Amino acid sequence: MKKWLRLLLLLLFIGLLYFTLTDKLEPDTSNKADTTNNKADTTNNKTDTTNTPSNEEKYKVVIDPGHGGEDPGAIGASGYEKDFTLSLAKKISILLQDEPKLEVHMTREEDVFLSAETRERTNYANNIDADVFISLHANTFTDPSVSGTESFYYHKNSKRLANIIHRHVSETTGFRNRGVKKENFFVLKDTTMPAVLLEIGYITNPEDEQKMLTDDFQQSVAESIKSGIKEFLID
Ligand SMILES: [Zn+2]
Repeated sequence: MKKWLRLLLLLLFIGLLYFTLTDKLEPDTSNKADTTNNKADTTNNKTDTTNTPSNEEKYKVVIDPGHGGEDPGAIGASGYEKDFTLSLAKKISILLQDEPKLEVHMTREEDVFLSAETRERTNYANNIDADVFISLHANTFTDPSVSGTESFYYHKNSKRLANIIHRHVSETTGFRNRGVKKENFFVLKDTTMPAVLLEIGYITNPEDEQKMLTDDFQQSVAESIKSGIKEFLID
């Protein structure tokens, strides 16, 4: 009888010891499992946000650096118009790439000739269904003292664009404000979207040309054109 009781007590003791140990172990394992699950959840959430599609439509902006290749454009005191327009266009393009609502396209990105006869520039803009077309130029005159910023449009739908961009650019160049004029240049006449042709300044005026060839000047003009585009399309 005593032997049996001892055995029972021993079994009870072992049983108790077993439950205490497993009790201590169990919550630990479940905690670990919980943390792993949480981690998995956060990862899933992260993936979900990244995959959210943005259907926002972008405005297509075409930047047209005037001249190129065998057509140097105006010949300044120390440079060609075609190089000035391409350098400025690249700066505008870089700035516009940071704008989430704008998509930038260039009629040329190198020193290449684009045929006016086959309307390469205007066809390009019309084919991609651009929202605005900005043609960049530098002016020329026999009298080197002539200076100023001048902008052109042709169709009625372009007048507002021309006025807005001209105001921004003219304020930035600080050259004489020669105003906004109507002119039937083919890049303005054959484009279907609002289009403007900018004569930033006279590269035949040595003083103005020196300014126009600097990176700082071109960067400021590029910023002003970006502001004008944004005011016209977004603001
Ligand atoms: Zn030109």
